[in-house]
Amino acid sequence: MAKKKIVIVGGGYVGFEVAQALDELADVTLIEQREAFVMPPAAIRALVDPTLLDQITLPYDKLLKSGQVVRGRAVSVSQSSVTLDTGDAYPADFIVVATGSSYAAPFKPSGDSIAEFRQASADVSAQLAKARSVAIVGAGAVGTELAGEIAAAQPGKSITLISSDDRLFPMYPAKLGAQLKRKLEGVGVNVVLGQRAQDLRHMDQPYQGAVTLTDGTVIEADLIFPVIGSKPQSSLLQNVPGVTVGSSGRLKADAWLRPSDYPNLFIAGDLADVGDGMTIVATTRQNPWLIKTLKKVLAGQPVERQKPYSPWKKAPILIPLGPVIGNSWLFATVGNWITRTMKGKDLFIPKYRKAFGLTSERG
Ligand SMILES: Cc1cc2nc3c(=O)[nH]c(=O)nc-3n(C[C@H](O)[C@H](O)[C@H](O)COP(=O)(O)OP(=O)(O)OC[C@H]3O[C@@H](n4cnc5c(N)ncnc54)[C@H](O)[C@@H]3O)c2cc1C
Repeated sequence: MAKKKIVIVGGGYVGFEVAQALDELADVTLIEQREAFVMPPAAIRALVDPTLLDQITLPYDKLLKSGQVVRGRAVSVSQSSVTLDTGDAYPADFIVVATGSSYAAPFKPSGDSIAEFRQASADVSAQLAKARSVAIVGAGAVGTELAGEIAAAQPGKSITLISSDDRLFPMYPAKLGAQLKRKLEGVGVNVVLGQRAQDLRHMDQPYQGAVTLTDGTVIEADLIFPVIGSKPQSSLLQNVPGVTVGSSGRLKADAWLRPSDYPNLFIAGDLADVGDGMTIVATTRQNPWLIKTLKKVLAGQPVERQKPYSPWKKAPILIPLGPVIGNSWLFATVGNWITRTMKGKDLFIPKYRKAFGLTSERG
């Protein structure tokens, strides 16, 4: 019997893993606009260690054994196919859309070119090396890690980390944010809390200039990094019948991660407003659910008979401040050793290189 066709749009943390897990069971097509997968967590450290760039962009050519990875941009989705901007259409019994999100440069590619992403990262890295002062606007995980990476690799710079919240990581027990603040201050970072930057000149790339805070303080810096969050990429599905865009720009979904009137269309990851954050940690819960559910559905069982998806109640989080120190919340606040061992040391680079069939450092 012919295998069912699954078309997956977006080869990020959701798409690559779901495609690989179903490769043997279904006729899988993964549609991805870029020639390589990029690891944003490691793109932070690449700014202070540009040699990492060679290790954190992973070509798709060894990902699937049976299925195909098609390089292209999907522009429309129907119940039975996905169409690219070239006009090529890929028939599907099931469709997974995981188009993710965009982020300010140089942390994720802004377009489909990996060469341009590498150049943007290298340019900012060169500016950073020369900068005497840095201001980071936004103290979520990216801003906090960036401050820690710069302080660890380039001590002596003036680094200011600015947050509009009154404490770091306000969604987590106070101990996590308090310990991270203390460690950042210990390596010389000036942590400014409860202040909003009023006049960011660019939201999408670093620049030299000044920002004015809510209390009127003006902070001048050789490099200002706007790191104020991910923007979901939902345009592909906005005209599909039944799709609802949530207030965050993410798409609503039913209990089986289906966003529309099409019963065979699923979403996950940063695109999906299903109660999880826009994190890889979220995909570590969503991907296994999606893979298990799709396996059952491929075997002919109705979707509605499967266990509904339930999001993380409070997702774990790992915040390295460079390769050695950091804090994490793994259902309790933990410190340097666990954070370093689990993430700070290698940023999961070997794990993803292995998944992409690249075992050696440069292989
Ligand atoms: C700097 C940074 C650091 C981060 N660090 C962490 C961390 O340490 N831990 C953590 O849990 N989370 C982290 N995150 C968040 C994490 O990167 C995202 O949650 C994750 O990438 C989401 O995965 P995804 O598969 O939903 O989307 P993405 O990874 O964004 O992948 C989407 C893919 O879809 C492709 N695509 C989009 N539209 C189309 C189209 N129309 N046609 C074809 N292809 C398309 C894109 O090219 C992209 O490859 C970080 C984010 C950033 C920016």
